[in-house]
Amino acid sequence: MIADKIIYNLNEIFCPIDLGHPLRGDEMKEAKILKNGYIAIYGNKIYEVGEGDVPEDLVGEETELIERSNHVAMPGLIDCHTHLVYGGSREHEFADKLKGLTYLDILKRGGGILSTQRETQKADFDELYLKSKKLLDHMIFHGVTTVEAKSGYGLDWENEKKQMEVVKSLDENLAIDLVSTFMAAHAIPFEYKENPDDFVDEVLKMIPLVKEENLAEFCDVFCEKGVFTAKQSYKILKEAQKYGLKTRIHADEIESIGGSSVAAELKTTSAEHLMVVTDEDIKKLAEAEVIGNLLPGTTFSLMEDSYAPARKMIDEGMAITLTTDSNPGSCPTANIQFIMQLGALAMKLEPNEIFNAVTINAAYSVDRAKNIGSLDAGKNADIAIFEAKNLDYLLYFFATNLCTEVYKNGTLAVKNRQIVNEDKFFKNNKKDIEQIEKEKKLKTRIPIYLDNLKRRDEEE
Ligand SMILES: [Zn+2]
Repeated sequence: MIADKIIYNLNEIFCPIDLGHPLRGDEMKEAKILKNGYIAIYGNKIYEVGEGDVPEDLVGEETELIERSNHVAMPGLIDCHTHLVYGGSREHEFADKLKGLTYLDILKRGGGILSTQRETQKADFDELYLKSKKLLDHMIFHGVTTVEAKSGYGLDWENEKKQMEVVKSLDENLAIDLVSTFMAAHAIPFEYKENPDDFVDEVLKMIPLVKEENLAEFCDVFCEKGVFTAKQSYKILKEAQKYGLKTRIHADEIESIGGSSVAAELKTTSAEHLMVVTDEDIKKLAEAEVIGNLLPGTTFSLMEDSYAPARKMIDEGMAITLTTDSNPGSCPTANIQFIMQLGALAMKLEPNEIFNAVTINAAYSVDRAKNIGSLDAGKNADIAIFEAKNLDYLLYFFATNLCTEVYKNGTLAVKNRQIVNEDKFFKNNKKDIEQIEKEKKLKTRIPIYLDNLKRRDEEE
C-alpha cells in the first residue's frame, strides 16, 4: 500500500517493544534500534518502520518524502505526571528555598501549595486555560505528545471541577492529548486542620461527581506527612476504584508513611515519587505490578540528593517511568528531555531504560498503550524527531531542546522548532484504523521485521 508520508534516512529510530504490559526489570533494557531507518505513515497511523532504503511499494505520486539525516526519532514522549493547571507562580519563594527553607517549612507558614491554591481558586476558567496552554506549548515543543494532568489545587468542588474542565477543554482543542486525573488535594484546607477526616468525607462526596460528569479517568492522592495519612489515602482510593476510576498515589516523597503499601494493596496503576521508598516496599510494588512514576526533576529542584532508587527498582523487577511533575513549587519545568538526562546523570539508568520509561512505560502509566508508546503498525503516528547523530546524544548533550519536529496523529505539530497545526482538526482524520483495515489488512511490520533480523543474525 502507498504511504501518505515517509520520514527516511533517520540515523537511528528507537522502537520500544510492546509486550502487552509495562516493561519490567530487565525488559526495560530491551528495544529495537533501527539504523538508517524510515517511518511510513498512513492517515493518522504508523504503517511501517524499517531500516535502509524505503521499499518501492510504499511510495506513490502523492507520498510526501521527508529526508531526515542527522536526526533520530522515537514515539512521541509521554509526560505521565503533571500538575498542569494552576494559578500564579512561586518564584518569590525561590530565594527562601536557596536560604535553606524546606518544602514543609514553607507549607507551614501558609506558602507553597497553599498559595497556589489561593491563586487557583481566584483564577477563572479562561485564565487557567491560557496559562496551561502555554505550558503545553513548551511540552510539545520538547517532543511530548501526551500529558497527564491533575487537579487538586481547587480543594472545593467548584474549583476542582474548574481545573478538570480546563483539562478536558485543552484536550478537545489542542493537538496534544491530555489524560485527566482527579487529585484528592495537595493539602488539607486550613478550615479542616483540626478535623482532617471531615475533609476526607468531602473528597469522598466528589468522587461520584467526577465519574458522573466524566471529568477524569484517574484518581490520585497526596499521601504525605501533614497531608493525607495512609489510612485516609486508602479510603479515598478504594472509593475511587468502586466508582471505576483508575488510581495512583503520591507516596514516599518526603517521609515514608505507608503510601507504597497502600499502592501495593490496592494494585494502583502507579505510585509516584518513591524517593524514600524502603527496600521492602520496592518488593511489594514489584509483586503488585505497580508502575513507579519517578520524578527526578523534583529532587533536583529541591536541591536534595534523595533521588528515587531507580536502579534498585528495576533490579527488583519493577516497571518505572520518568516524568516532569511539572508544578509551580517543587518542579517548575516543562522540559522532559532534562528529566531524561537526570535519569542518566542522577539515577544511573541506561539509555534504553530511559527511552522506554518516557514512551512505552509512560503509555501504560496513562492506560493508553493500545494506541501510543511504540511505533508498532496501527498505533497513532505520534513521533518525536531530534537533531542528533545518535540516540545517546540526547542524554549526553543536556538541558538543551534538541527536538526539531513532532508529528501528532500523523500531522506535523512542531516544524523546525515552531508550533504549527496546534488545533485538533486532524484528530478526526477520516483515514482511521478501521478504514485501513477495510482497505487492506494491516501488516504487523515490526514483529515481521524482528523475525527477519533474527534470521539474519542466525545466518551470520
Ligand atoms: Zn506530583
